[in-house]
Amino acid sequence: MTTAPSPLLIVGQGLAGSLLTWALEARGASYTVVDDDHRSAATRAAAGLINPVAGRRYQCHSRTAELLATARATYNAIGQRLGLPLYHPRPALRPFDTAAARERYERQRNGGCRPWLGEPLTAAMGLRIGPLGAVPVREAGYLETQRLLEATRDRLLASGQLQRQPCTSSELEPIDHGVVWRGTRYRAVVFCEGYRVRENPWFAHLPLQPAKGEILTLRTQAERPQAMLLGGRWLIPLAEPGLLRLGATNSWAPLDEEATPAGRAELLAALATLLDPLPAVEVVAQRAGVRPGTPDRAPLVGPHPDHPQLYVCNGFGARGSLLAPWYVAQLADHLTLGTPLPQESDPRRYADRRLRRPS
Ligand SMILES: Cc1cc2nc3c(=O)[nH]c(=O)nc-3n(C[C@H](O)[C@H](O)[C@H](O)COP(=O)(O)OP(=O)(O)OC[C@H]3O[C@@H](n4cnc5c(N)ncnc54)[C@H](O)[C@@H]3O)c2cc1C
Repeated sequence: MTTAPSPLLIVGQGLAGSLLTWALEARGASYTVVDDDHRSAATRAAAGLINPVAGRRYQCHSRTAELLATARATYNAIGQRLGLPLYHPRPALRPFDTAAARERYERQRNGGCRPWLGEPLTAAMGLRIGPLGAVPVREAGYLETQRLLEATRDRLLASGQLQRQPCTSSELEPIDHGVVWRGTRYRAVVFCEGYRVRENPWFAHLPLQPAKGEILTLRTQAERPQAMLLGGRWLIPLAEPGLLRLGATNSWAPLDEEATPAGRAELLAALATLLDPLPAVEVVAQRAGVRPGTPDRAPLVGPHPDHPQLYVCNGFGARGSLLAPWYVAQLADHLTLGTPLPQESDPRRYADRRLRRPS
């Protein structure tokens, strides 16, 4: 007689945990999710921008082509299953704000990012492009992160696969080839806790660099630009008529989910540097969250060095919408088929740091 393998336990249903549920379902694996009602979900605050050429130096992730292809395919497939559009491709421009930025671009224009960079231009309808011009960025777009989060949560609740409560490490007991949580045995647990993985004793040694961010949703009666603006300050004309999304602030303390008057003022002041003419706008929403970044900007996806049944899926930083679908797919393959995980995101590269902390 054969018995079905015990299910997986997923702690946290932000972007990473949500994508993992879809990926496991597609592979026929069973799982239970526990999430504390999105108490600290960065995904709830995120704008979902997908920008293949992020970073000051116009350099691309070495996997950009497969990251983009997987992100589009994943969001379109989930969107179809949910009957909701999740991913919106958009033309995008990245202005050169300084002569040094333009020089950096000139040095990189024939480098690895070439497929995603167009020819610089000097004007675009409704956008303030300075005398140094702007470079079009191809294959950009945005993900409806909040919609993905809520629709996935509702689906998991309907199927009885989501428990809405915190999961504390003291309730989890690692055993041979598995873990026990509240009397049920799971074959492995995957912690998708966002920046609060710092409170997780098994993975607190990982070098997370969390950064708080705030964004605004604005309504305008004026004509909106067609293209997104990318850069330190970005602007997205949303699919809903009259709405724009503007972001983002960056701060390192306090790390919380509080939207602040200072954040709002900073962003509204930046609007004047992005739009021309500057339209009257009404703030319809302000959101804040903490990005789970890492020093080398590589995610953290893989097992604990001593407890191979404890996994982490984290570190997606400010680029979760682009990175998470591909890395989560690798993790789902690993969990169901035993395939190797990418080395660049293996959390065991930080095993030495663990020795300096109690675990
Ligand atoms: C203001 C802002 C703007 C952003 N804009 C973009 C953008 O434009 N493009 C982009 O790609 N990325 C953006 N990001 C980053 C993006 O949000 C993250 O990369 C991504 O959402 C991280 O997802 P996650 O699942 O790892 O973490 P989270 O979304 O934080 O999810 C973690 C979940 O786990 C729960 N949880 C944690 N611990 C426990 C526990 N012990 N028990 C139960 N539940 C627990 C939390 O409440 C939460 O629901 C932005 C982030 C912010 C804050």
